[in-house]
Amino acid sequence: MMQLYTPLHFFGTYYRMIQSNFIDMEKMLTLFEEQQTVKDVPNAKDLNVKEGHVVFDNVSFSYDPRQTALNGISFSIPKGATVALVGPSGGGKSTILRLLFRFYDPDSGHIYIDDQDIKKVRQESLRHNIGVVPQDTVLFNDTVLYNIGYGNLNAPEDAIFKAAKAAQIHDKILQFPDGYETRVGERGLRLSGGEKQRVAIARTILKDPPIILLDEATSALDTGTERQIQQALSIMTKDRTTLVIAHRLSTIVNADLILVVKDGRVVESGSHEELIKQGEDGVYYEMWQKQLHDDNDNEIYGGIHANG
Ligand code: ATP
Repeated sequence: MMQLYTPLHFFGTYYRMIQSNFIDMEKMLTLFEEQQTVKDVPNAKDLNVKEGHVVFDNVSFSYDPRQTALNGISFSIPKGATVALVGPSGGGKSTILRLLFRFYDPDSGHIYIDDQDIKKVRQESLRHNIGVVPQDTVLFNDTVLYNIGYGNLNAPEDAIFKAAKAAQIHDKILQFPDGYETRVGERGLRLSGGEKQRVAIARTILKDPPIILLDEATSALDTGTERQIQQALSIMTKDRTTLVIAHRLSTIVNADLILVVKDGRVVESGSHEELIKQGEDGVYYEMWQKQLHDDNDNEIYGGIHANG
């Protein structure tokens, strides 16, 4: 079961196959059977995570031999640190996360978690240790309780409530017509983008993995929702090794390390201050200026507001 939890949509492929945001279990099981791309080596061992230290060592990868998606990517994330991936569309950010989740194996180079090559461990044990919060969460046509509890199917109700509180969604759920028993999805209550994201955060908190992959939502949320989500995210990522794909740079200025990924390479890396100091020639500097400019425009024109 655990194995099913994460890859369903976050990494794009499955998601694009699913037209709706809400799916049934049977449909998902079928998708998984069709999409198994990497196989465990014979007698693969379980991944043993003590620290959550993630290393990419000269990793290259192509989806298609005619075009390189990643070209010699190397970085190291110490236990509990947050690394933000930024850069132009198509640069390779999602591919980095897909490889860490072992959706594909690198063509060359290695990925290690706590010194274990992830190619040699059982996929299920790898995925058990990684939590994924996608841009747009797929919910099951089931109750809110089930949708959060899916993070750990053995969790008692109390633990589910606690996770929902940490994800800043508990009070909202209590306002739903049947509270935690409210059905969501195509045949039930439709949750807003912000609510769905907090359900995904609650699921991940319940799963309690040492490593987290986070694809930030691109759409702008109203200030209140944004603040709640940021709070929920900081509780979720505290003391966990986190890789975040950031679309809005304002949310990652405090990241321990920012990697600028462009054309399959890490072209700049450092803290926000370090990257800004690199000045006008820098890709990050340019992105930051553009963002400040866009934010100004939004203020002038009243901002873009999605529901939260
Ligand atoms: P975005 O910010 O738009 O999500 P990204 O930086 O995450 O982009 P990737 O999705 O990692 O970029 O894509 C890197 C390259 O790999 C791009 O050239 C893209 O077209 C290609 N690519 C991504 N997924 C696939 C796939 N499933 N099959 C073939 N090529 C792919």
